[in-house]
Formats: sequence, C-alpha cells, structure tokens
Amino acid sequence: MPDLRTSLEHAQKNGVAVGHFNVADLVMLKAVFASAQELQAPVIIGVSEGERKFLGVRQIGVLVRSLREEFAFPIFLNADHTHSLASAIEAANAGFDAIVFDLSALPIEENACQTKAAVQKLKAINPVILIEGEIGDIGTGSQIHDVAPNASKALTSPQEAKRYVDDTGVDILAPAVGNMHGMLQSMVQGKTRKHLDLARIAEIKSATGALLTLHGGSGTNDEDLRRAIAAGINIVHINTEIRVAWRHGLEEGLAKQPHEVVPYKILPAAVEAVKQVATSRLKLFNHLN
Ligand SMILES: [Zn+2]
Repeated sequence: MPDLRTSLEHAQKNGVAVGHFNVADLVMLKAVFASAQELQAPVIIGVSEGERKFLGVRQIGVLVRSLREEFAFPIFLNADHTHSLASAIEAANAGFDAIVFDLSALPIEENACQTKAAVQKLKAINPVILIEGEIGDIGTGSQIHDVAPNASKALTSPQEAKRYVDDTGVDILAPAVGNMHGMLQSMVQGKTRKHLDLARIAEIKSATGALLTLHGGSGTNDEDLRRAIAAGINIVHINTEIRVAWRHGLEEGLAKQPHEVVPYKILPAAVEAVKQVATSRLKLFNHLN
C-alpha cells in the first residue's frame, strides 16, 4: 500500500491531482469512498476541527483505516485546518496521514516559527506524517456566503512562500491564489464560478518545489482547475459542494418517502447525491473525462 507522499508524487508525475473531500458523517464517507473506488483514484478524506469534534478523532481514524485495509485501497485521512498544537498532536496520535497546521491568521513570522516547532513535534510522533502550512488569506467557513469576501486580500507571493517552506520544513503548502472557502449563492446556482491566478500558482511551484494544495475548490471554473493542476497543484479540496449535495439528497430521500423511518432506506439518496459530486470532481482531477 503506497503512503500519502508516494501517492502525491505519483499523481504529480502523471500531471493529475488527488481529490480531498471533507466528511461529517458516514453518508459522506461512504459516498466519497464508493466514488474513488469506482474510478480507482486515490483519495483524501478531510475532517476539520468541527467535523472531528462531531465524528470523534479516533473514531474517524479507525473508519478510514478500516476501508484502507479491508479494500487495500489508497484512502488517506487529513486533519484539515488545525489551529492548535494540542489538536494536531491528537490527530497524529490517532494515525492521521496528514495535518493542515493552520496559523494563517497570525503574522507570517509567528506562523512560521510556531509551524516549524509543530513540524518537529508531529514528525517525532509519526515520521511519515505530512504537514501542510498555510499562508495568505483564503477566508473561513465552507458554507454559503451572502457576500463575496474582500477581493483586495493579498495573494501569496512566491518569495514569501519559498522562505516559509524553507524555514518551517512543511511538506505541503496551501497558498492564496484567488481561491476562497465557501461558495456564493450564485455559485451554488451555477451562475458564477471562481477563477484562479494560474501564473501565480506556477511561480509559487517553481520557487518552492513543494507539494501544493488548493483549498476552497468548490465552485471553481473547471478549466481553471485543470490549468491549476497543470501549474503545480497536487491536492484539491472540495467541501461546500458535497455539503450542498448532502442536504439536497437528504431532502429528496425524506420527501420521496414521507412516512419512512428506516434510516438506511432514506439515506441512500444522500449517498447518491454526494457520490455524483465526488465522481464529477475526481474525473476532472484525474483526467478521466
Ligand atoms: Zn481549507
């Protein structure tokens, strides 16, 4: 079984990216896994601190590992947006494959200093765990936003990205390249799409040579995603799009059987809705369509 680094390097060599999908329940996990298995595409399951609190850190660790072992399939687990060392250590001890150590709200020097110390502590727990650092502002909250975030926010500069990667020893960098967390209502309706600074991605890749993650991939223009992967993005995060699908699928399952109380007769509609989104994105990231 390849580890996450091997899967990412393999994807990079083939010019494709590994899809990262957040889950908050078993419906979402089943859907993402079924989709990845059908397409034979490695996949990363992400759980934010909020999602971990709901699911249980050790419980989601065991669930994902059970799928990896039973089906001999490259499914990995990432502690998404982890804001404290204590929470990162908890995830490392639960066997997570990667941690996004997110101190991007701090001034960059302080972010770098604390992230460097965290990398050392977490690698002492598990030498093959991958640590991702984040610089720049990509907003917060994978949900439907009423208004667009401040468009004047600074993008990550290639120079500061290189210094940050060199100083901290992170394996993966999450830059701000025009991406943002969450979606606008117009994006949910398909009327508008996010666009990325593709030249900036290529510059950051060439300056750092690091593995790169695109956060907030939901609602992004498909061609921009293809070109971002060609420019050096190795992991694409999708959360809001599958949350929207989860809700619609659940509503459909309930509406179709207004008197049903058996969960496993209602929930397959939600699994199917999430699976459709995961499949569409995995096909795009892996050049399968
Ligand atoms: Zn994110």
